[in-house]
Amino acid sequence: MKHHDGHPLEPGADEMRSMVERAMERIVAHIESLPEQPVSASHGGEELARSLAEPLPEAGTPFDELLDLIFDRAVPCSFNTASPGYLAYIPSGGIFHSAVADLIADSVNRYVGVWLAAPGLAQLEINVVRWLCEMVGYPPDAGGVLLSGGSLANLTAVVTARQERLGEDFLRGTLYTSDQTHHSVLKAAVLAGFPARNVRSVPCDEGFRIRTDELERRIGEDHADGLQPFLIAGNAGTTNTGAVDDLGGLADVAARHQLWLHVDAAYGGFFALTERGRRAMRGLERADSITLDPHKGLFLPYGTGSLLVRDVGALKRTHSIHADYMPAMRGGAEMADFCEISPELSRELRGLRAWLPIKMHGIGVFRWNLDEKLDLVRWATEELRTIPDLEIVAEPQLSLVVFRLRPEGAGREQLDQLNRDFMERINQRQRVMLTGTVLDGSFALRICVLSFRTHQERMEMALEDIRAAAQELAGHAAPAATAAACGR
Ligand SMILES: *Cc1c(COP(=O)(O)O)cnc(C)c1O
Repeated sequence: MKHHDGHPLEPGADEMRSMVERAMERIVAHIESLPEQPVSASHGGEELARSLAEPLPEAGTPFDELLDLIFDRAVPCSFNTASPGYLAYIPSGGIFHSAVADLIADSVNRYVGVWLAAPGLAQLEINVVRWLCEMVGYPPDAGGVLLSGGSLANLTAVVTARQERLGEDFLRGTLYTSDQTHHSVLKAAVLAGFPARNVRSVPCDEGFRIRTDELERRIGEDHADGLQPFLIAGNAGTTNTGAVDDLGGLADVAARHQLWLHVDAAYGGFFALTERGRRAMRGLERADSITLDPHKGLFLPYGTGSLLVRDVGALKRTHSIHADYMPAMRGGAEMADFCEISPELSRELRGLRAWLPIKMHGIGVFRWNLDEKLDLVRWATEELRTIPDLEIVAEPQLSLVVFRLRPEGAGREQLDQLNRDFMERINQRQRVMLTGTVLDGSFALRICVLSFRTHQERMEMALEDIRAAAQELAGHAAPAATAAACGR
């Protein structure tokens, strides 16, 4: 294997090809076998992790041995988040096109924090941000920035709203969320310098949507107490149930009281590409800022979030700090310097992993896939209704349904135990992975369909396993085999 004489960090052409080919063999074998792999295997994880810990190596190890370590030992012991059966939490994507884009981006390793440093590549990423704005119905002069995920996007939104609406003396500022809001919003508020007590948790209606009357009442109270209400964080797809707040109603409340309206659409936002999603999220485009997670609904790999802002000037006023050693800034929404509108300076060329698949396939493929997810969860919900003693706790508003077993006469603790057992029995079959949550004070199971690999066939398996587990618990069938353990 030949690299440039004496410089192992600069592999020659053959060596580069060979590395990629050998890695590729493992990647293809892995992806092709995904449907048969267990959907979660993390028993025995502690021993595995201990066996992998090691001090800083002085000498090298052959590449093939390292590929074995990664693919044979480290990867299999995990929640199989790339499996078609992964219906847990909010599934992420991981389309292969993005992996190729990342290889290109990391190989050319250009700097895109400042427009001037790579105007062409910066433009490709600006295109992506523009496309995201288009998807949510924002006007042409809106803008935003790609971040590592929804948490960073929510933090950036809270900091921007704080700066715009409160300035430097912000400790009397109050924020409004619902009791279903993702915890990253509270975390964002605390990181942005607010005491946790300044974050109001407003109750929801029976559809798990924020009660706007209650919201307005709380804002009025806080005003009367001399506080400074400044931000409403609405939901377009909660993590618990997929609930979409009345976004138009929230926009009205925000306008009446001159509050910043942020909508956390990390999970739900991309459904705006579909007819049904657009209907459910009417009013989204009236938000001052929107969190969208391309690593969820656009099926990209982990590490791709975004914050979109109606007035990009707000991002710039919040994040722009001068330094003498920096190159000239271009400014403006059209030719953005990402480092001036986000907390980051140096970072990867994040846009390519979104740009390449969208350009290769057009957005229609994504729209179709999201529509399919809406169909699948509706189908699953109708099937769930036919299972004896099963109640739907949250009807699907997007691609998420929540349910629990509720046999007559069982007390709350008994029910919780029963449903945890129910979930375990479903997951033990290793064809799907579900996770639960607590709603109205008791445990419930969720099915969240968002993987681009999940199709009808897998949903049928899911329902088979759910039915079988329910029958076991009702004493009509013997239990299935036990959980998969991590190898070695
Ligand atoms: C996933 C999610 C987040 C957090 O996003 P990360 O990308 O995991 O940081 C925030 N809000 C909602 C509604 C989410 O679904």
